[in-house]
Amino acid sequence: MKTIFMLLPLAVLSASQNVEYGQIPLEEQPIGEIPLQPGSVLTTEPLTIDGIPLLGFGTWNLKTNCSEAVSWAIQTGYRHIDCAAAYGNEYDVGRGIADGLLKTGLTREDLWITSKLWNDHHDPNKVESAIDDSLEKLGVGYLDLYHMHWPVRTGSLGRNYIDYRDTWNAMGAFVENGKTRHIGVSNFSPHQMENLLNHTSHTPSVHQMELHPYLQQNDWIKWHEKHGIHVTAYSPFAGTNPTYQPGDPEHLLKNDVITKIADKRGCTAAQVALQWGMARGTSVIPKTSHLERATENFHSLECVLKKKDLEKIDELGKAHHRFNNPSKSWGLGLYEGLEDSKGEHKEHS
Ligand code: NDP
Repeated sequence: MKTIFMLLPLAVLSASQNVEYGQIPLEEQPIGEIPLQPGSVLTTEPLTIDGIPLLGFGTWNLKTNCSEAVSWAIQTGYRHIDCAAAYGNEYDVGRGIADGLLKTGLTREDLWITSKLWNDHHDPNKVESAIDDSLEKLGVGYLDLYHMHWPVRTGSLGRNYIDYRDTWNAMGAFVENGKTRHIGVSNFSPHQMENLLNHTSHTPSVHQMELHPYLQQNDWIKWHEKHGIHVTAYSPFAGTNPTYQPGDPEHLLKNDVITKIADKRGCTAAQVALQWGMARGTSVIPKTSHLERATENFHSLECVLKKKDLEKIDELGKAHHRFNNPSKSWGLGLYEGLEDSKGEHKEHS
């Protein structure tokens, strides 16, 4: 495995030498063997399902070079692509997937592809048309994971309300008819999870939620471990996504604790943040539209952190800062019982 890690950067570097920053040409092909799981010692045994790769590639806000970025991600070694109907780019992501498979000689079965049901299709009669649309746009015959994006339904007059149980039951049929291998949820509160588990025969395989050093949600992760539910961390770089309002905690990748650890271990700040997430047993799905960063983030698999590094990063959790909270704009309460956007840590039972 060590030899493989040594070879890969050379292959990637030589393939990317002529690439202008930000432009990802479809014809470039890094060649190399690919590590799929982190190289550092995990502090916890990851609760994986069906070998979901712990490092994935996010696609929210991938716009002009979306297909190229996804193709490049696959060529670089990513085997887990996180998509959603709401990102409005599934057709382009699908083109990137097809191109990436063609250039690497891989097949659909070599990838883990996730998509998500948007709030305007929670009506049980609309759920199947939503997954069919995602499958068609992505150009794949099945998904590995289909999430309910939020426990929120947008009604015909545009009003939002909490509604997920009937939608969830409708989603269960897709596991039986082979449209997806797993179903999962995203952005649920403890009460909503308990309520769901009490009323379904399909336990979610995965819960996708905001997680990063400024929002660690340790008790909440433990709850999932207890219930055999894998956790995926979205926005692993905290407020770096420009859609978010910059908050009190400073830019995570410029934070002293993170940059000092990065210098000490010969990693970059982004690699430290990702390795910290994987060392907790969660999968991480960083997004970037830049070739160099996709490569850099992929090599987080080789960033080896020590226990004391992880403990220092744990200290940053005091920030309790949530960046993704549409409660106000949607006119309803989300995340009840969880670390919230105001930095108040409310314990859940
Ligand atoms: P990320 O934490 O992945 O951060 C993305 C930002 O970081 C972008 O601005 C990107 O810039 C920048 N970036 C990426 N790599 C580096 C690097 N090495 N150095 C410096 N900057 C870097 O944020 P996201 O919110 O996009 O989260 C990741 C994914 O999680 C999403 O794309 C989506 O798939 C999923 N998600 C799911 C949600 C849900 O409700 N279930 C909500 C939010 C996200 P650039 O692109 O310019 O390189």
